Amino acid sequence: PPDREELGRSSWDLLHSMAAYYPERPSAEDKAAMAGFIRGLARFYPCSHCAEALRADVEAVPPRLGSREEFAGWVCEQHNIVNESLGKPAFKCDLATLDGRWRDGVAG
Ligand code: FAD
Repeated sequence: PPDREELGRSSWDLLHSMAAYYPERPSAEDKAAMAGFIRGLARFYPCSHCAEALRADVEAVPPRLGSREEFAGWVCEQHNIVNESLGKPAFKCDLATLDGRWRDGVAG
């Protein structure tokens, strides 16, 4: 399997960036598409014990898909669950902090 750390960084990059650009007012179709993306990630993420943990976490706290702020916060919380399990520091999940890291100055 790919290098776990490298894969992890790339995956979080994609997830937080997608969340940062998720619609402010998503349509029903937007919500269904993102829910499917997260389900697929939890099914196919190529680190089997990571995927297993993610499936449990997503089941315990399903994605909050009602707005950009909700979804960005949810991804941040999921990342913090993994951070905690690895002994890494928690990240602040307010939208201003998340936008500073993942939205402002990135692709428009
Ligand atoms: P990363 O954790 O990859 O973070 C990258 C950057 O994101 C950080 O530098 C910081 O700027 C920012 N950031 C950090 N936390 C947050 C947050 N909460 N919200 C927003 N931004 C944040 N590794 C394992 O060893 N075991 C596992 O079980 C495991 N499960 C994983 C599950 C998933 C779904 C994913 C995507 C990755 C998983 N990983 C796992 C990989 C692990 O999370 C890290 O990606 C890897 O250890 C590299 O860590 P890093 O310190 O470089 O920063």
